[in-house]
Amino acid sequence: MNRAPPTHFIREIIAADVAAGRYGGRVVTRFPPEPNGYLHIGHAKAICLDFGMAREFGGRCHLRMDDTNPTKESMEYVEAIQRDIRWLGFDWGEHLYFAADYFDRMYECAVRLIRMGQAYVCELSQEQWKEYRGVPTAPGRESPYRHRPIEESLALFERMRAGEFPDGSMCLRAKIDMASPNLHLRDPVLYRILRVPHYRTGDRWVIYPTYDFAHPLEDAFEGVTHSLCTLEFEVHRPLYDWVIQTLGFDPPPRQYEFARLNLSHTVMSKRKLLELVRDGLVSGWDDPRMPTLCGMRRRGYPPEAIRNFCDLIGITKYESLTDIALLEHCVREVLNRTAPRRMAVLDPLKLILENVAAGERLVATAPNNPERPEDGEREIRFGRELWIERDDFHENPPRDFYRLAPGRAVRLRGAGYVSCTGVNHDTDGRVVALRGRWSPMSERLKVKSTIHWVSVEDAVPIEVRLYGRLFRIADLSTIPEDDDIRNWLNPDSLRVARALAEPSVRDTRPGEVLQFERLGYFCADELDHRPEAPVFNQTVTLKDSPVAPTA
Ligand code: ATP
Ligand code: MG
Repeated sequence: MNRAPPTHFIREIIAADVAAGRYGGRVVTRFPPEPNGYLHIGHAKAICLDFGMAREFGGRCHLRMDDTNPTKESMEYVEAIQRDIRWLGFDWGEHLYFAADYFDRMYECAVRLIRMGQAYVCELSQEQWKEYRGVPTAPGRESPYRHRPIEESLALFERMRAGEFPDGSMCLRAKIDMASPNLHLRDPVLYRILRVPHYRTGDRWVIYPTYDFAHPLEDAFEGVTHSLCTLEFEVHRPLYDWVIQTLGFDPPPRQYEFARLNLSHTVMSKRKLLELVRDGLVSGWDDPRMPTLCGMRRRGYPPEAIRNFCDLIGITKYESLTDIALLEHCVREVLNRTAPRRMAVLDPLKLILENVAAGERLVATAPNNPERPEDGEREIRFGRELWIERDDFHENPPRDFYRLAPGRAVRLRGAGYVSCTGVNHDTDGRVVALRGRWSPMSERLKVKSTIHWVSVEDAVPIEVRLYGRLFRIADLSTIPEDDDIRNWLNPDSLRVARALAEPSVRDTRPGEVLQFERLGYFCADELDHRPEAPVFNQTVTLKDSPVAPTA
């Protein structure tokens, strides 16, 4: 797409900061995934923004694994995240960071807060802590440990770190304001005891910082200037600022929030996606029906299409639901320019060219991509028998049917013309084959349509996987909390079919996308495609495709 992306409030904020010389004109952003799952299209929105802003303003964007919660994180996810961001077209250069590498510095910051009288070790149980915290409409109650001597908190915190106390028996809390209407400021927890080995630090730590404490510190340590995140963190911002100010980081990183991407007919929560994977309801994180970047790659979505989509939806402060059809439109727009054209027949009906002798060989020529003449043409051999699509023929055609019918002619893509001279039926009256008279392109017959075909003698059987929507309803947020999203899965989201294709499909590289003419775009499966046994995933239908998606 050549159009300039529409501007948005974050670009304006950054432009103003740069113009005013804040941060010495530097722009440092970060993308901070927690390595507890694979990246999805929602993350792509954040990635395009974080890396996009840095690129646009001559700054840099850090990739930071926000790995402060050891229970669900792993190296598998760390690697997948890097692969997917690179695939999407972004690069962090040397700026790959791990929150876990800051654990020592974070611990020191916590000790400083205790020394300043701004944090204390609290021994309330989790239930008590919740009860004391109260509700936004009335002040909460102070913990009885709030005013314990600084030296006592320091000693206890040291012993928490040394592993002297059981999980959950105490925690470190900030001393802020138990009467604040913002619950996040009512002496939030900064550190908790958790005897879970960490994929990066092993069993070196038995206390871990909370997100609210760790995130502003990570930004500050790295010199981040603009910390961009989704709207749910807006209410955490006063705490973010408190941590930065109280510890005196200067210049302070600033947090800005934007609306997350919600896409119709799918879910974006990593927890829910993980459930689908664990329960075997999809074949894995990279199942082509998943909203994950690896799923979309396997489906054949070009990274350029995903970037264009992210530009198109823009950045706002308002929650909304984006129709998945918009993403598919972006995919089509790129593939129409780039995908080589080939022919395949999904529901074959035999057509016998009666004026072509058995054993005679003819050659058709067809453009590889009419949008790119420079891609040239290919030759396709054929003979007396062709496969055509069953629904390109009608024995008693309705008024608006312009394709093949008894006595009518159509163009065969690249191969001249055929007029239908007869129909063979089986004993039940079903059409089993058509007879026709072939004529070469040079005859220039007046016909109303062109159909695709495959030579019977040369046809290569292929497996095609046809996809429908993952879920049968558009807005998954409308289902009640106690309902299970699994009840709303589309039972017909995958249909495996056989098709017959022109021989050149054997040359397709795994991951390459073709347009099967008039059927849609199909991607040679990354894992299962073999020259001798081709496997294609349906990427997206054509706008006017005769092959409807399964739902
Ligand atoms: P969870 O699914 O557990 O809520 P998450 O999607 O927030 O997790 P993170 O790894 O914390 O996962 O996300 C990394 C970054 O991506 C965060 O800055 C987050 O704001 C952003 N992000 C996550 N989901 C979306 C989304 N749907 N749209 C835009 N940005 C998102
Ligand atoms: Mg998160």
